[in-house]
Amino acid sequence: METLTAALLSVLPRDSVITDPVRLRTYECDGLTYHRATPGVVVLPATAEQVARVVRLCNDFGVPFVARGAGTGLSGGALPREDGVLIVTSKMRAILEIDLPNRRAVVEPGVTNLAITEAVREQGYYYAPDPSSQQVCSIGGNVAENSGGAHCLKYGFTVNHVEACEIVTPDGDLVTLDRMDPGYDLLGAFIGSEGTLGIATKITVRLSRAPEAVTTVLAAYESIEQGGQAVSEIIGAGIVPAAIEMMDALAIEAAEAAVACSYPEGAGAVLIVELDGPAAEVERQFARLREICAGAFELRVAADAAERAAIWKGRKSAFAAVGRISPAYIVQDGVVPRTALPGVLAAIDRISAEHGIRVANVFHAGDGNLHPLVLFDDAEPGAGERAEVVSGAILDLCIEHGGSITGEHGVGVDKARYMPRMFSETDLDTMQLVRCAFDPEGLANPGKVFPTPRLCGEVPGVRKGVHPLVESGKAEQF
Ligand SMILES: Cc1cc2nc3c(=O)[nH]c(=O)nc-3n(C[C@H](O)[C@H](O)[C@H](O)COP(=O)(O)OP(=O)(O)OC[C@H]3O[C@@H](n4cnc5c(N)ncnc54)[C@H](O)[C@@H]3O)c2cc1C
Repeated sequence: METLTAALLSVLPRDSVITDPVRLRTYECDGLTYHRATPGVVVLPATAEQVARVVRLCNDFGVPFVARGAGTGLSGGALPREDGVLIVTSKMRAILEIDLPNRRAVVEPGVTNLAITEAVREQGYYYAPDPSSQQVCSIGGNVAENSGGAHCLKYGFTVNHVEACEIVTPDGDLVTLDRMDPGYDLLGAFIGSEGTLGIATKITVRLSRAPEAVTTVLAAYESIEQGGQAVSEIIGAGIVPAAIEMMDALAIEAAEAAVACSYPEGAGAVLIVELDGPAAEVERQFARLREICAGAFELRVAADAAERAAIWKGRKSAFAAVGRISPAYIVQDGVVPRTALPGVLAAIDRISAEHGIRVANVFHAGDGNLHPLVLFDDAEPGAGERAEVVSGAILDLCIEHGGSITGEHGVGVDKARYMPRMFSETDLDTMQLVRCAFDPEGLANPGKVFPTPRLCGEVPGVRKGVHPLVESGKAEQF
């Protein structure tokens, strides 16, 4: 590592290379604090060319590298390597171009998600994907995780809002992947690749026009079943709200304790529904929504932006808020078809009772993206293990119901072990072929996404030049 550090200092200024053991500890985990490792060395490049030079040096020395944005990830994706280089994009925070006629902005990867909206808000535009961490998370991290947010039900995930990415490939080349490129959708492959296919150094995002009208409603129900029923009816009525979010009683209790959001007392569940679009359409949809939500014991409609923010406050702070009601917790992220929500929530209740582990539910109800918060006391012997069992059982439920082990937080290091529950060996080998095409040396964020770290030479299709499907006679020679 010492020789590599000397080489890094030859391509970066002194203050951009961190080796002090105390400062290195700042970077030892992301938002998932129970996976920790001290990076071998941290670098803070200020330009794409510097990122490329660092990656080339990693190749020369055969040393792995991990990209890091703001470190808010919830799957341990930015967990560093003790034998590797952590490449942090916090010095790359420039908004390089705003092109309103073409509704685009070109930004560096360390720019925060919200900064893009703030740069164009006055002109009536915004950047649509809105993770709850948007004040701090970086757009580079959003691209790597294909991040979503409350409004992705109507507007789609990061992948639907990125036009092009300049990336440093795992062998140190600087290339641009563009949505307009003919042939394979390499930009699509890169988005959501969790730092395993290279490092984004410049991102062209799509800007959206702010809607003419927005109506935000909070409906309080006695039970989560009633809230779930309302969600089905809203979607069944052909309404596509900008957002439908739900919180159960425990999540509401946490939010009250943390931010005093003043949600209706005694609610077993609250539903936040946001309608947006042309004023006439929003008015028509709201009239129908009011009928559907007739079973709510309280219906609040935000009269202005301040009241809208007050309604969102509890939901947006929910993850951090559970710290008020539990010393430790696991933020889970799974998806089920919307129609399976009532059954899955009831099953989560049963699992929680069986193991004596409380689970608070906060979720993007419109697209079935659950965020169960599995609460435990880390001072209690065995509680952490039981919480892990509950957490895994919830993911099994998602798979059984035709869903997925992650909706938006990614696989990272945390969920790599669950991948074989969803995918066969052949599926995983096929994914590895994509990774090996970008990163034959396996230096870009190794140990993430895949359950069993393998060198590219050990992946069946690469070793034999024949894909497993070909061997089994199910596909043509690649
Ligand atoms: C309170 C809270 C609320 C959250 N709410 C949401 C939510 O609503 N929706 C949601 O989707 N997520 C949410 N998240 C998760 C997290 O904020 C997102 O995954 C976010 O995109 C991570 O961005 P980051 O800059 O912090 O990335 P990091 O945590 O630094 O890194 C995440 C991954 O991206 C890779 N990476 C980082 N930068 C680059 C780059 N330039 N090029 C290539 N790879 C890179 C890293 O290697 C790692 O694999 C939440 C997190 C918290 C703590």
